[in-house]
Amino acid sequence: MRYKGIVIYPEELSDYWLDRVADSGMNFLGIHPMGGNLQGKPIAEAIEWVQRPETQRLLERAESLGIAVEYEMHALSWLMERELFAEHPDWFRMDENGERTNDYNCCASSEEGLAHLTERAAKLASIFKTPTGRYHFWTDDVPKPKCHCPKCREISAADETMKIYNAINRGIQSVDPNGCQSYLAYDNVIDGPDTVKPDKGIYLEFAPMLRNTQRTICDPESEMNKRAVAPIRRLIELFGTKDAQVLEYWLDNSWFSDWKMPIRRFAFSPDIVAIDSAYYEKCGFETITTFGIYLGEDYYKSFGEHFDVHSYSKAVGKLSD
Ligand SMILES: [Zn+2]
Repeated sequence: MRYKGIVIYPEELSDYWLDRVADSGMNFLGIHPMGGNLQGKPIAEAIEWVQRPETQRLLERAESLGIAVEYEMHALSWLMERELFAEHPDWFRMDENGERTNDYNCCASSEEGLAHLTERAAKLASIFKTPTGRYHFWTDDVPKPKCHCPKCREISAADETMKIYNAINRGIQSVDPNGCQSYLAYDNVIDGPDTVKPDKGIYLEFAPMLRNTQRTICDPESEMNKRAVAPIRRLIELFGTKDAQVLEYWLDNSWFSDWKMPIRRFAFSPDIVAIDSAYYEKCGFETITTFGIYLGEDYYKSFGEHFDVHSYSKAVGKLSD
């Protein structure tokens, strides 16, 4: 395992989290602007956030502590600005009734639209440059955001997503030659593409959102978890193991708190994390992470005790030398 760590909101990045991550032997922090159907707004806010001198200071400190910071964001509505709809309706998706709409995502069959995505991804990668060269600029975080135009209708949602990620990958590589984009395998695109091949550099990010975190991921008695792990073998065949990352929900206190305050007191099972992590490592995943939102300084202030990040880090296992 090359990296293990936690994914938090931008506003949660602080000396507190850097100390906790470093002290517990982890080396990764993912920054995740809020998902959901908020379109490009969280990205615009994160751009303002990342340029603040205080954020830059924290990022430099993270680097000096050996913590890789990456940005994991549902960026499509920022990459394809919604206001372009009036001028270029064909860049946007067609709904089930044959109407073009700028609600979410885009049309994956418009070459001009994809070229625009590439250009915008280059811009976003230059704003959120990572020391690792790994980028995570994902499609919108909404169910069934498929395009139903005559061309996209012929391919699956995962194939559409693959075309979009290939276009984003080209933009990233134009500003960071060693940069690469993740294919986020989750929700309705968890099975991976059928006909569209990933371009060079695209790596797997597996996020089993539809799982039961009270049972191990391989528990044969959990139908939900059986479904969640079913695509892994195929995904690894498609994308390989280089840079492959798990984005788990073991510590997702934002989900548990309904994504709003007040924060709830959180408990997790180190045994489940340990068994799951061993399984993921055996599959070849190089990076093991989990959402860990609402477990930082605000958690400490709310409950007067630190969330037990040491037990978590220990359960995930050892980093390779
Ligand atoms: Zn289309």
